[in-house]
Amino acid sequence: MKFAECMSRLGGESAFEVLTRARALEATGRSVIHLEIGEPDFATPPHIVEAAKRALDEGWTHYGPTPGLPELREAIAVHVSGTHGIQVGRENVSATPGAKPILFFSILALVEPGDEAIYPDPGFPIYESMIRFAGGTPVPMPIEEARGFSFDLNRFRDRLTDKTRLVILNSPHNPTGGAIPREDIAALAAMLADRDVTVLSDEIYARMYYGEEAPASIASFPGMAEKTVIMDGFSKTYAMTGWRLGYGVMPEPLVEAVSKLMVNSNSCTASFTQRAGIAALTGPQDAVVKMVREFHRRRDAFCGALNQVPGFRCALPPGAFYAFPNVTGTRMDSKYLADLLLNEAGVACLDGGCFGPYGKGYLRFSYANSMDNLLEAVERIKIVAPRWTPVT
Ligand code: PLP
Repeated sequence: MKFAECMSRLGGESAFEVLTRARALEATGRSVIHLEIGEPDFATPPHIVEAAKRALDEGWTHYGPTPGLPELREAIAVHVSGTHGIQVGRENVSATPGAKPILFFSILALVEPGDEAIYPDPGFPIYESMIRFAGGTPVPMPIEEARGFSFDLNRFRDRLTDKTRLVILNSPHNPTGGAIPREDIAALAAMLADRDVTVLSDEIYARMYYGEEAPASIASFPGMAEKTVIMDGFSKTYAMTGWRLGYGVMPEPLVEAVSKLMVNSNSCTASFTQRAGIAALTGPQDAVVKMVREFHRRRDAFCGALNQVPGFRCALPPGAFYAFPNVTGTRMDSKYLADLLLNEAGVACLDGGCFGPYGKGYLRFSYANSMDNLLEAVERIKIVAPRWTPVT
């Protein structure tokens, strides 16, 4: 079978590959602590599950409107208007099966050969994959430890050209947990204000933040809502990864383009899932607050423990649920080290290089696992640590 050329430009997502390898190891009787996959280990809050059950009983089991149920789009518009201090309506909202399709469809709708798209490196692997698939030129923006895993505005300015069509921001950030300070977001907005550029602001970790001030969205700055796609969803905030429900808030013409791509692929998002989404957004938020508080506790304990491993140096990330230790002090290649930790220590994590060349020399651990498992994982790593000679 001969595949279309564009297929050779699509990448994958290493978290799913490592999960498969880890499961295969477990099938042979080995114990593995799973710190590779980015999903909350909490159950979906019961009132959301109840809303879905009720929706099934009420017959929300048929096709619905392509951009989403009007009530869900309205709830999203109200939520985003409130959190971002902007005025958006349901006509600006597209609900999709997970947030990923927003990424997929916006890039397909906006990027074509000759266009440049700036994206974070290290970053969520699907950004680069989709830019290439659409025929665009990916322009990596280094996210460096020396800058607290944020943006270097000068380096960003150097990357902006007349061909820049899309800029992807992700704050708080996967894989580093870093966040872009408000004043830097303001500076980015000022740099982009007069340009014919769309910003894809991936805000999937916006609620997972451990500082005092909530992360800023570029869409909140004057004139930017008109050129920004706010991408968010229910997967992380409400522990709903398997439900597949996400959304984008964007200028109306882009909603129409995304709907065209939706009708050609999914037709619509599952109706009863969307009913559950309404309950999630409009119902009590205490489960979210509790989950974030627990992530905060685990972050402190886990990063502290990782810093006790010879050759590891782990910054305290302000957001998301990932630790991204620098492991160059082990003098081992980070891919080799990630494989060693899985095979010898029974700890599944990801090589930072899976997220782009600037991620090499780091490992990504998801701390969305129990405190006991996190601390046990560090003990297991310490047991294999004599395999490397740390830089002293
Ligand atoms: N964006 C980032 C940065 C992510 O880490 C993820 C999931 O891991 C997504 C988007 C996709 O989320 P969803 O499950 O809603 O498709």
